[in-house]
Amino acid sequence: MSQYIDVHCHLPENYFYNSIDTYIKRWNQIGLKYIVSVSQNYRESLRTIELSQKYPKIIIPAIGIHPWKAHKKIEELSLIKGLLSQHKQIRILGEIGLDKHFIKQRERYPLQQKVLDFFFEQAEKQDYRLMLHVKGAEQEIIDRIETSSIPGSHCCIHWFSGTEEILQQLIDLDCYFSCGPALKYSTKHQQVPKKAPIARLLTESDGNVKYQGIVGHPGLMRDVIKLMADLTKISNKKIQQTVLNNFYQFLNT
Ligand SMILES: [Zn+2]
Repeated sequence: MSQYIDVHCHLPENYFYNSIDTYIKRWNQIGLKYIVSVSQNYRESLRTIELSQKYPKIIIPAIGIHPWKAHKKIEELSLIKGLLSQHKQIRILGEIGLDKHFIKQRERYPLQQKVLDFFFEQAEKQDYRLMLHVKGAEQEIIDRIETSSIPGSHCCIHWFSGTEEILQQLIDLDCYFSCGPALKYSTKHQQVPKKAPIARLLTESDGNVKYQGIVGHPGLMRDVIKLMADLTKISNKKIQQTVLNNFYQFLNT
């Protein structure tokens, strides 16, 4: 049976969390091998750890503070630091990043930056992988990667929808890219599988975000693979196997 991965899903959201046993059963049946549970604050990070301990074979924990929440949750950084030292099995930090598109309040940008700097510092010390939200702040993220000792190959750019030039810079930095159901309609997102090396592609749902009215969830990864196959002109099977291998590479190199 084909195996799928979802490298960015908001499992701590009540939508999934409250019915997780039912969902895991269903996702197991349709070939989900791994789901990365991303967290947006301390409370969600605790939930992510709990879920990954309950389902260690399928749920991979990522803990973080989302850029949309940075201005409210910056004081939670010390708690997050405690979690990281307590739970050495955590390999991924996310969802973290910057957002200057949806967040219009400029006074929040320095706080977003401070929170992001904290996570970069942790990754410089401990070799974490980064699950990055970059909307409207793509150049700032590139600058941050370039001025750090973290290789681009330790960074996964989530749901890229920026310009062609910026995409090329991220490709040159050797970043990974997670693509989702928006491949169906977003020409900006479609650039990613068309231009990035196949060895740098990953799949994500960003569940439970809605895509043109349809709720995103890991069960859609088969459709995402099909969309990628159409855009790259590579077979479904090859894309699916490559994406799985890419994920092992992302975690282990
Ligand atoms: Zn997300």
